[in-house]
Amino acid sequence: MIDIHSFLLALGIGNIAFAVLMAGYTHGAAPSPGLRLWMWARFGIGMCQLLGWCRPFLDVPVLNGIEGAGWVLAVSLEVAAYCIFFGFERWRRVLLPMAALALAIVLAAGSAGAPVPYLTALVAAMVALFAAAMAWILLRPRRRASLLQRIIGLNDALFAVSVALWAASCLSSDVPLGQRTAQETAYLAGYLLMIVNGFGFLLLCKEKDDAEMARLATTDSLTGLPNRHAFLERAEHARQAALRQRQPLALAMMDIDHFKQINDRFGHATGDEALAVFAHTLRATLRAHETVGRLGGEEFAMVLPGTDLSGAQQAAERLRLAVREATVITSGAAYTMTVSVGVVVLDPNETLGMALARADHALYAAKSGGRDRVEVGHPQQRRA
Ligand code: GH3
Ligand code: MG
Ligand code: MG
Repeated sequence: MIDIHSFLLALGIGNIAFAVLMAGYTHGAAPSPGLRLWMWARFGIGMCQLLGWCRPFLDVPVLNGIEGAGWVLAVSLEVAAYCIFFGFERWRRVLLPMAALALAIVLAAGSAGAPVPYLTALVAAMVALFAAAMAWILLRPRRRASLLQRIIGLNDALFAVSVALWAASCLSSDVPLGQRTAQETAYLAGYLLMIVNGFGFLLLCKEKDDAEMARLATTDSLTGLPNRHAFLERAEHARQAALRQRQPLALAMMDIDHFKQINDRFGHATGDEALAVFAHTLRATLRAHETVGRLGGEEFAMVLPGTDLSGAQQAAERLRLAVREATVITSGAAYTMTVSVGVVVLDPNETLGMALARADHALYAAKSGGRDRVEVGHPQQRRA
């Protein structure tokens, strides 16, 4: 048996402590979306729990209604925090009317002097509803939730079910033992919710920030393609996979022809636009498992797993023709680019760096051979 009254005090203090911790964390920083709202939700929940703890000492019936309204307000704030965090666009249209209706019902029941078990059942049912909404946001189908999101979502679902059962048990007062068990289960679930959601939301924010940092560190901001470092890393993975699976792996290096002229004639901004158009064309030409990246300036590279030399030549040729078709909008007439490509198939004994050097050599040959062409790299020279 749990001492519910003392437990309520511990829960209240715990939730407020989480809110204060979060206030310190967000102070003077640009917090993740939804974090401030989440902090107020936690504070609200903690205050409601403290109010619940005070109730036996303060015999003021109106406090029952106020506590119920506080619960509805706090859990709606938490749902709003999740909606903002996950970037829901139209959440206000659904949540605000729902929260306003729930608030009105609880306030009306409280001021009409509804008996405590009925008021408790009503508020608990609404809290369960909002907790179920949180669980749905985190676990909703057709979305790849992270393990952390699934843990928090399952915890919300568990809380929603236990509070709903408690709400139901409040209405059947003929089984007080069942009611007590349901209440204790709901409080334990509330305790778990405080811990899991308390740390969980912060970890969710960190998870999101980490993903954004990783994206920024590996993506070229102008073209949206993997940057040099990320490309080389992926190419190395592809090389090792090709070795393991005994599959061929082709590598191509591309350089836009006379790119300096674009900058000189139309300005740097148009040059940037041309790079973006080129990257778009490159992506549209490749298949899903093929990797492309910007090595720097107007130099790009791609790796084609499972592709032999003739397949790589065809792919490079397709790309070359697609680039000729793509147009760049300039201040004058539309501009079309051409590209030179050097293609190699990796030798099982060579490193990625060696293969890149060969591809670069082939690219140089394409440039000196007149540009707008594909050249194949010589096979690796074997030591005698
Ligand atoms: P080639 O056909 O021999 O490759 O001639 P090119 O003019 O394309 O090559 P060059 O190396 O002479 O010039 C490359 C130019 O690309 C020079 C540089 O200012 C420009 N460039 C590099 N990075 C960027 C960028 O991010 N944006 C813009 N607008 N220009 C860039
Ligand atoms: Mg160039
Ligand atoms: Mg160049």
